Amino acid sequence: MTETSPRSRKLDLDTISGLPATKLGETSPGLAEVQRYLRSFGYLRRGAYTPDQVDSSTSAALQEYQERHDLTPTGAFDEPTREQMLKPRCAMPDMHNGVAFVTTCAWNRRSLTFAFDAGTDDIAGAGEFDAVRTAFVTWAAVGRLSFTEVNTAQNPDVQIGWRPANDPDHNMVGPALAHADFPPGCSVVTNTLPKPVHFDDSEHTWSIGAVASAFDVETVALHEIGHILGLGHSSVPGSIMFPTVSPNATRRTLHADDLSGLGQLYPETSWTDIGHANNVAAMAGLGSKLYCATSDNRLWIRDAVAWEVDWVDIGHANNVVGMTGLAGKLYCATADDRLWMREPVPWEVDWVDIGHANNVADMAALSGKLYCATADNRLWMREPVPWEVDWVDIGHANNVVGMAGLDGKLYCATADNNLWMREPVPWEVGWIDIGHANDVVAMDAIAGSLFCATIGNRLWVRPPGP
Ligand SMILES: [Zn+2]
Ligand SMILES: [Zn+2]
Repeated sequence: MTETSPRSRKLDLDTISGLPATKLGETSPGLAEVQRYLRSFGYLRRGAYTPDQVDSSTSAALQEYQERHDLTPTGAFDEPTREQMLKPRCAMPDMHNGVAFVTTCAWNRRSLTFAFDAGTDDIAGAGEFDAVRTAFVTWAAVGRLSFTEVNTAQNPDVQIGWRPANDPDHNMVGPALAHADFPPGCSVVTNTLPKPVHFDDSEHTWSIGAVASAFDVETVALHEIGHILGLGHSSVPGSIMFPTVSPNATRRTLHADDLSGLGQLYPETSWTDIGHANNVAAMAGLGSKLYCATSDNRLWIRDAVAWEVDWVDIGHANNVVGMTGLAGKLYCATADDRLWMREPVPWEVDWVDIGHANNVADMAALSGKLYCATADNRLWMREPVPWEVDWVDIGHANNVVGMAGLDGKLYCATADNNLWMREPVPWEVGWIDIGHANDVVAMDAIAGSLFCATIGNRLWVRPPGP
């Protein structure tokens, strides 16, 4: 870029605060500072206006600015506009080449990592990092993306820190509180990873919660993460993506406008009907095949192809309540609380009893371990070794009707028709609601996809992730 950045010199808010109201055609000495402000945030192009005069392009820019900030669009520099311009705000532009941002673009994946570097001395301990973590949780709770914290040496997608106002990657001197960037492909700050979330640590005071003259970290973090996900500034007052923020206040809940923007960028993944699956009690995926046990105590195999093909009967499977495939073997839990293993070969072979599995609702396999959800709403893990070993309780799993493991995550469908995802780590972590899964009777995963059978005897496939 050869053009001098409009943010290379501090925006002079004192000049703006002292300016008289100025209408179309009028001139006020110092109005050039308002024009610089409009340029800084994408409303006005350099060289396209007469300095200090509300000419037609400046008036059009003022009108656009007023519309996007819920002010009366007079096209004049007036009192409400002056007040709005003096408010602290996000450093990201509202417009790009004169076109308003609503959304920019989406990431090409739904799972992102983040890391922290420098914090702020304004907050005791590492409370500022916890506030940012909470903001990630709020976005993750929508169920369209998931976020994992790593350290800065692990090539994070997003790196968060507090910076001097004179921040080399995006100057924040002036009314700017913080900046971020948009996803790869829509970048305005950097074309490489990690993407920044930077807070101005020299001109503003940071707080946890509403504190006089200070800014709530979680409130600002929620907004900046919105940019990272591809959302631009919104003109809807009360939305997280509105460009200005007040001190001594919190705004920690996503607005319907934020949710509709996110939904547009990351639509809910849907299930595709790929055939019939009659009277299924449990289902497993193994190799390139699907297996199901049916209520008449038979075991069936079919290709995991995405169209209607027949199931082939390959043996018996009595009173199965949960089933999965792992490392070349099929495993099932039965109504009499036993765990069984057999070869997946397509003919009648016997199941071998390898232990207990009490009150199983469904089973899953992931990274060399067996998992099961039980009728008392607990989640368990055990080694797949063929003898009696104990299951370890690793958390909750409420009202599960189907479970699967895929690409490092556990998935479950619940009786209330939701689909959930969580880390398989052996302690209590939360499940994230990632969509719907209606009338599921059995679920498992194979070949990068989730499969489920439903009450109406249909078989469905869906990509993993939110
Ligand atoms: Zn912003
Ligand atoms: Zn920066």
